[in-house]
Amino acid sequence: MPQYDYDLFVIGAGSGGVRAARMASSHGVKVAIAEQRYLGGTCVNVGCVPKKLFVYASQFQDQFDAAAGFGWMVGKSTFDWPSLIANKNREIERLHAIYNNLLQKAGVSIITGRAQVLDAHSVSVDGKQYSAERILIATGGWPFVPDIPGKQHIVTSNEMFFLDQLPKRIIIVGGGYIAVEFASILNGLGVNTTLCHRGHKLLRGFDEDIRDFLAHEMTRKGINILFNTDIEAIESAGDCFAVRLIDGGKVTTDLVMYATGRTPNSTGFGLEKLGVEWDDEGAIKVNDDYQTNVPSIYALGDVTNRVCLTPVAIAEGMALVNKLYVNQPRPVDYDTIPTAVFSQPNIGTVGLTEAQAREKYPDIDIYKTSFTPMKNTLSGIDEKTLMKMIVVRSTDRVVGMHMAGPDAPEIIQGMAVAIRAGATKAVFDSTIGIHPTAAEEFVTMRETVKQI
Ligand SMILES: Cc1cc2nc3c(=O)[nH]c(=O)nc-3n(C[C@H](O)[C@H](O)[C@H](O)COP(=O)(O)OP(=O)(O)OC[C@H]3O[C@@H](n4cnc5c(N)ncnc54)[C@H](O)[C@@H]3O)c2cc1C
Repeated sequence: MPQYDYDLFVIGAGSGGVRAARMASSHGVKVAIAEQRYLGGTCVNVGCVPKKLFVYASQFQDQFDAAAGFGWMVGKSTFDWPSLIANKNREIERLHAIYNNLLQKAGVSIITGRAQVLDAHSVSVDGKQYSAERILIATGGWPFVPDIPGKQHIVTSNEMFFLDQLPKRIIIVGGGYIAVEFASILNGLGVNTTLCHRGHKLLRGFDEDIRDFLAHEMTRKGINILFNTDIEAIESAGDCFAVRLIDGGKVTTDLVMYATGRTPNSTGFGLEKLGVEWDDEGAIKVNDDYQTNVPSIYALGDVTNRVCLTPVAIAEGMALVNKLYVNQPRPVDYDTIPTAVFSQPNIGTVGLTEAQAREKYPDIDIYKTSFTPMKNTLSGIDEKTLMKMIVVRSTDRVVGMHMAGPDAPEIIQGMAVAIRAGATKAVFDSTIGIHPTAAEEFVTMRETVKQI
């Protein structure tokens, strides 16, 4: 008789949990997965997927405006928010069915409800108890909202995906990728958009040139960016809100959205009692094998707050299963993880920023170009593209690539392979470009703009 009901009990059917459950099950492991809210987790329901659909929606007005330059006369266009929400919801339902199918086919038992960890080997869901040799915590994160007067009026990215109607005016608080993406989406949909950030630049951690360029382009597109300030209080004022800023400023708006970080979902389901350790920000502490201080309990993805991205959670899920059940450790390499910001303009980036490269190497060359994308020559759209490459002079290794402009994430994904393969600048220089594209600029950058 087996000692436990399951070999592996996964809590949370998001990016990391689903991948770990499916992979483990395909290797003959007896797996259950508990999900309290929605299959696919944050990414599918209130993250990457609906966000990208909104980004597409927000780009049409620019396309309509651009059309005339190419001879197209487009009639009066109108936008219907409820249609977008309904179509988006239908697509997410389709993805739910796919996730359900994939898990079922892999032989994973899907248990619906909120899981509580009872001890190192048992979990309960809706009063029913299950035992497992190992428990995997893949419970993700949740938007953080500070405790300010009027907090009850605030919405987060979670609610933005289900608004009944589009506001005429919005103020978005934050300077990270979710804040700038939503500011770009709403501005593109015609909402009068203010972005309020307590720092002096957007996108902390990104290359300084990209940060400056983005703020400039977003401002040019009509987004009102308030730096070095924050909201002090929000008051209801009839059918809108009066927002008081810490610098004395006042903003009247129809909606206040906060994108001020996310907190790991690590409390309230039994881990406290077991003494599972987490850091000051609530991230569950794990070793290199995703094992917590309680040996039968593992954790990965956003709840460990390492690199909070879907492909990283997926890679961690696969690494865990390879280690535990395939006996072929393939650890995740956290260096040179490419990332994108789906702002307007889009950003794609991989490797070191100029500041990081300066710290790490004594000799670096910077290549940089800024130009009007070909499409914009006829479209009349006054948006530029920025591309930047960072090279270590002594080894000729390319250690960072950054781009802001159309298709930047698509282009940088390919560049990330080259960087990981250790490509030198000479390799880039000897690569034939694809003409006419923006991407070809990365293989035709000849003049350094800065030598350090
Ligand atoms: C607005 C937004 C946009 C984003 N855009 C991108 C992007 O463009 N690219 C990208 O790579 N990443 C993006 N992300 C980040 C990405 O969504 C996360 O990194 C990823 O979903 C993390 O996966 P995870 O498995 O750790 O957790 P999640 O996907 O959050 O899944 C955790 C699951 O656990 C469930 N759960 C929690 N507690 C319990 C419990 N006690 N019992 C049962 N179930 C429980 C939750 O309901 C949830 O479904 C975005 C995130 C947000 C919020």
